[in-house]
Amino acid sequence: MTRPPAGRPCWRGPDPAMTAPSGDEPAPPPARGLLEADVTVVGAGLAGLSTAYHLAERDPSLDILVVDAEGPAAGASGRGTGLLGPRVGPPVDQAVRRFGPDTARRMYTASVEAVEQVIELCARLGVATSCRTGEQVVATRTADGLATLARQAAAYRELGLDVPALSAADIRDRVDVPFHAGLLYRAATLDPAALTGALARACAAKGVRFLGNSPLLALRPGESAAETRLVFPGGMVRTRKAVLAVNAAAGALGLPVGTVLPLLVHAIATAPLPADAQEALGGRTGCALIDAHPLAPYFRLTHDGRLVLGGGRPLLAPVADDSGSAAVWRGLEERLRGLHPALAEVEVTHRWAGQIGMTTDGLPVVGPLADRPDVWYLGGCCGHGLAMSVAHGAHVAKALTGDVPDRLPWHRSRAPRLPLPRPARPLLGAALGLMERGARRAA
Ligand SMILES: Cc1cc2nc3c(=O)[nH]c(=O)nc-3n(C[C@H](O)[C@H](O)[C@H](O)COP(=O)(O)OP(=O)(O)OC[C@H]3O[C@@H](n4cnc5c(N)ncnc54)[C@H](O)[C@@H]3O)c2cc1C
Repeated sequence: MTRPPAGRPCWRGPDPAMTAPSGDEPAPPPARGLLEADVTVVGAGLAGLSTAYHLAERDPSLDILVVDAEGPAAGASGRGTGLLGPRVGPPVDQAVRRFGPDTARRMYTASVEAVEQVIELCARLGVATSCRTGEQVVATRTADGLATLARQAAAYRELGLDVPALSAADIRDRVDVPFHAGLLYRAATLDPAALTGALARACAAKGVRFLGNSPLLALRPGESAAETRLVFPGGMVRTRKAVLAVNAAAGALGLPVGTVLPLLVHAIATAPLPADAQEALGGRTGCALIDAHPLAPYFRLTHDGRLVLGGGRPLLAPVADDSGSAAVWRGLEERLRGLHPALAEVEVTHRWAGQIGMTTDGLPVVGPLADRPDVWYLGGCCGHGLAMSVAHGAHVAKALTGDVPDRLPWHRSRAPRLPLPRPARPLLGAALGLMERGARRAA
């Protein structure tokens, strides 16, 4: 296992209004001895829990086991910044060039449906109070950014998709931060740890069994073709089907899914802001703002009026110590102070980081392992997996219960492979650093 990411997200208290990821339930026991299940889901993040939840809904007779190296919401799903927006894979104009207009349109509409499904799920699971529907604006302050957004706006128009372009004044109406132009998406913000915890409780209520503190060590063939064995430190699980929803840990486990690069990404949160500052920073329309420049900061308000700001230079995981993270948090704090006068002196109460799974073509991976039709991997959402991880869980549950779901370009068993021997790591780190300096200049 890689070392755990640093810091505590603002979703995990001390504010009692925030829902703890798994409530007051006792921690799930570790794997011990020989266990059996119809379906074993490894990884209790949004992808794994959505798979278990939808499987249990589709076939209540299934014996489903969820096993995590730590527990529910231990990974990115408990540490995200909670911007629930559409879009998956490369920007829409590139998607049109790579996959053609029909597929690009289907990709976008799948992501819009995924957002709507998560909003419905929040209502169904009783976490609607931490989910605010609103807007997401992708905006720019540079000439390059204007050209990029103009290409995307044209592609949306040609595909007949409703993604309005915003002028500087339109943006200023929503968020009092100067940008030249933007694109407007219907979206939401939510507490990702609360949703993950609620999914875990809903799974338990449907009879799904949980094991924690049990990192998967290896996969072994079973005695028959219809069985797979999963090896954990304290025991083994014999299972008919397995779903490996381990996201950024794919490489560490040696899964044959191509390169899903583990990157450590960072966020900070302020103390609750005064009402006028909230109003100036997106509170009126529930607007989250994403700078179109890669690695530039993005921000949103929480339901208790904090500003959460994420982005900055990602670090290649595993990281040796916290000094890299401390530098990224300092950089984010500088950017926060410069966003708006109301933020010049505000206290930063939370600094945290978490691992995302990045693919080199920007598309996730959702599919059975090569030569093992009963063992699926899902992950690699490139830091935008809040909506899609839940959708992917539903997709895998469909496939495992005999339905043939629609195929999209990321319904594939592996991403392109990036040979990354140890000596190449500093090069990749330097490239990420360069991109981040570009984002600073753009601001
Ligand atoms: C700081 C940050 C900000 C983000 N902000 C956003 C955002 O605003 N919007 C958005 O859409 N997305 C965002 N994301 C990305 C989003 O959180 C992820 O795409 C999504 O949560 C991935 O879910 P998952 O279930 O695939 O992975 P994870 O939540 O990472 O779950 C994987 C699980 O697998 C377990 N695991 C790993 N290895 C093993 C093993 N060997 N054995 C057993 N279990 C194992 C882990 O403990 C973990 O619980 C953000 C992520 C981070 C870190």
